[in-house]
Amino acid sequence: MKRLILFCFLMIFAKQHTEAQNQYDQYPTYKGNDLGLTYTSQSSLFRIWSPPAAEVELRLYKQGTGGHVYRSLAMTKSQSGTWVAKVEENLKGVFYTIRTKINGKWNNEVTDPYARAVGINGQRAMVVDLKDTNPDGWNKDRSPDFSDKNLPTDAIIYELHIRDATIHPSSGVKQKGKFLGLAETGTQNTAGLSTGLDHIKELGVTHVHLLPFYDYNSVDETKTDQYNWGYDPVHYNVPEGSYSTNAADGLTRIRELKQMIQAFHKKGLRVVMDVVYNHTALTETSNFNQLVPGYYYRQKADGSFSDATACGNETASEREMFRKFMLESVLYWVKEYHIDGFRFDLMGVHDIKTMNLISDTLHKIKPDILLYGEGWTAGASPYPEEQRAVKKNAHLLKGIAVFSDDIRDGIKGSVFDIKDRGFATGKTSNAESVKFGIVASGKHVQIDMRKVNYSKEPYTSGPDNVITYAECHDNNILWDKIALSVPEASEADRKKMHELALTIVLTSQGIPFLHAGSEFLRSKFGEENSYNKGDSVNAIRWDQKTIHCELNHAVKKLIELRKSYSPLRMNTQKEVNSKLQFLQLLPDGVIAYIVKGRFHDSKFGEMLLLFNGSADSHTISVPNGIWIPLLQEDYLTTQKPLPNQIKVAPFSSLILIGK
Ligand code: CA
Repeated sequence: MKRLILFCFLMIFAKQHTEAQNQYDQYPTYKGNDLGLTYTSQSSLFRIWSPPAAEVELRLYKQGTGGHVYRSLAMTKSQSGTWVAKVEENLKGVFYTIRTKINGKWNNEVTDPYARAVGINGQRAMVVDLKDTNPDGWNKDRSPDFSDKNLPTDAIIYELHIRDATIHPSSGVKQKGKFLGLAETGTQNTAGLSTGLDHIKELGVTHVHLLPFYDYNSVDETKTDQYNWGYDPVHYNVPEGSYSTNAADGLTRIRELKQMIQAFHKKGLRVVMDVVYNHTALTETSNFNQLVPGYYYRQKADGSFSDATACGNETASEREMFRKFMLESVLYWVKEYHIDGFRFDLMGVHDIKTMNLISDTLHKIKPDILLYGEGWTAGASPYPEEQRAVKKNAHLLKGIAVFSDDIRDGIKGSVFDIKDRGFATGKTSNAESVKFGIVASGKHVQIDMRKVNYSKEPYTSGPDNVITYAECHDNNILWDKIALSVPEASEADRKKMHELALTIVLTSQGIPFLHAGSEFLRSKFGEENSYNKGDSVNAIRWDQKTIHCELNHAVKKLIELRKSYSPLRMNTQKEVNSKLQFLQLLPDGVIAYIVKGRFHDSKFGEMLLLFNGSADSHTISVPNGIWIPLLQEDYLTTQKPLPNQIKVAPFSSLILIGK
């Protein structure tokens, strides 16, 4: 009997849920491009989309926080579920909020999701004239070329958190932890070595990927000792206040972010923005949900919020008005802030159609934009996996790359098992996973997919479809992972392992990706999830660059090599198959392969790469010919050819050119 009641209850519940879904589908979608605020000095037009609302109220304030509403206006019902209010005066500097009356009840007063400026802690949106936010010379700001053709595989990405970059005293930066701090040049550590922006430029990377800098929730902008990575979005189209010198003034954060981007562009560096459209920091009380309850999020069968992000909700990119929101948001960042690329957090939550629409639209206005994302989720999603942008569907994405966890964990061991080792730290059985990464996770006749750690089938359409990396902000940083998984190894050996790991990343096909500070053995002291662990764990200690200058130099040389030798960054899988060949019958723990292609204008037409991930030296028989080791300072003067038996030391690599 109880079961029957429960069954009936569930049937009613399921019916209500279906009705809710149908209701969302029946909402009219608005096609115009003027959602949010349209400002001129004569008038401000506010347009909000809320089909279920019976009334909508616009509230104006003189302040970004505190004080009282000085004027409230009833918004008028307009086309396609939108509501408008036009104020025929110059509202510059005024703050505003909105509330909707739905099912006879007034919802919370919230900000405009389309807001482009906000006051402190994003409590109220702000009316601004964006022209007032442009730094000197902004109209002449251009994205620099990063190679002859600006192809995705020519990119070398450097992942950085804005505050981490400059907050430590050793950065020598004045505006520590701020947008403007990363715009400073001529900064030095205590030994006089370059830091911050100058260091990044010297290292030679092409793209700086910055952890979230839209307005996020977790940092109180009225305080200075706060820390967070920022994966908890509130205002997608507004810069985070805590990175500005005055979070209360909506203009300052915009202008200072533009100044930082301008400084990067002047240095020849491109800027990638980390975006998190997969969830919002708040769920029930988010501005989206207060304006159109339920619509912007996916639901479970019982009608509750589904949570593929493990953050309390997951957005519904397949619903037209959120798809439109995402598209307009990225377009805005490109047009207004000259952003050069996006990294999509938990991209596996989003539907493929939306991602391809974004890619097509962005490539039309910026053909060399760089797009990539995480091809996974953090939990189960009710939306069909075949239609989501997960790693195994990477080949269905056009102009968007996915991160390869196969090579990441192949190199250093599983991120979910602290003790697990990878190829570079002595687990020789991981060789095939690394080889699969070397060929950019595409189909290659010499890869035995049965031996690859995670993927059982190739998933990419070509090398520009995958990000090759060994570490990122998530999980233990490489130097800590090595220490935790190979505790018995000497520091000298661990350094070799570290260099081997970075060497594999920077020589593999695909788009290489480095985590900031790894070039001088940055540590987070064994803290594997440092998102809120403060500066003491996260700050980049620039004096480490002095201590580990040899590794820093080696990484710089590897970057130079990659940039100068185009066969390390092929563009099609066909090319990889015809020009990249692994040597066979090698000792356990050794990977060796030849890449064909002329080295500069020399007579040398091939590169031989050998990686020894084992604790033993190995002597390898290599094809007949003359082999000259690269990346050894004296090779150009000595040009001493190596015989056809080549010895590779434990946990090390050799890169040679030959003919
Ligand atoms: Ca904020």
